[in-house]
Amino acid sequence: MSDLATRYRDLLAAIAAAAQAAKPPRTVRLLAVSKSQPAAALRGLYALGQRQFGENYAQEMLLKAAELSDLTDLELVFIGRIQSNKIAAIVRVAAAVQSLASERHARLLAAAVASVGKTPYPVHLLINAAGEASKDGLSGEAAQGLARTIAAELPELRLRGVMAIPPPLSQLQLGDDGRGVPRLFRQLRLLADSIGEGDLSLGMSADLQPAILAGSNCVRVGTALFGERR
Ligand SMILES: *Cc1c(COP(=O)(O)O)cnc(C)c1O
Repeated sequence: MSDLATRYRDLLAAIAAAAQAAKPPRTVRLLAVSKSQPAAALRGLYALGQRQFGENYAQEMLLKAAELSDLTDLELVFIGRIQSNKIAAIVRVAAAVQSLASERHARLLAAAVASVGKTPYPVHLLINAAGEASKDGLSGEAAQGLARTIAAELPELRLRGVMAIPPPLSQLQLGDDGRGVPRLFRQLRLLADSIGEGDLSLGMSADLQPAILAGSNCVRVGTALFGERR
């Protein structure tokens, strides 16, 4: 087996084991985060069965979409910082956006998906769970406000839930259930339950196990699959 095949198999097994151990057990999907990877790397993982890929940069995503246009059921999901002038391009090639973080962008996104006939378009609200100044994202309260606006005024968007990029595990306070799950992760599960369809996108290479135990439905993994980014 190739290194990629081995890593993919091991990752799927780790996700399945954690999903079984979660209370309640959940279905957890894998978004393969392919930023900085060449199109050939996505093609390799596609050949092993992976269909959803997360991309962070609009320009890079467009180039890969063009190179991979023969793989008609491959889905690109945008998980990077949104810029207003890139929204039209993003919705042309991405099947969903997980990093929506403002009402202004929600309105621009709604107009853009309406004009290309991709409604209702799946979105997650990006939560800045620890209130870090260096990161984009909404507070829990702001996210609930934006969720109400979307429900009332933007039927072009299908609000799936929330996405978060929390601080490293070493900086988080663990809950007291002895399972190594940060309190913050539990809070994000509760927040997700109150937003849209309740989907929680949480967990990356270093923290996917506690994220799934806390109730994540979607992990976004780059390094553990493709190796260190250049
Ligand atoms: C890069 C990135 C990931 C993947 O992180 P790894 O540590 O490489 O698994 C997940 N989510 C977002 C939003 C990212 O930007």
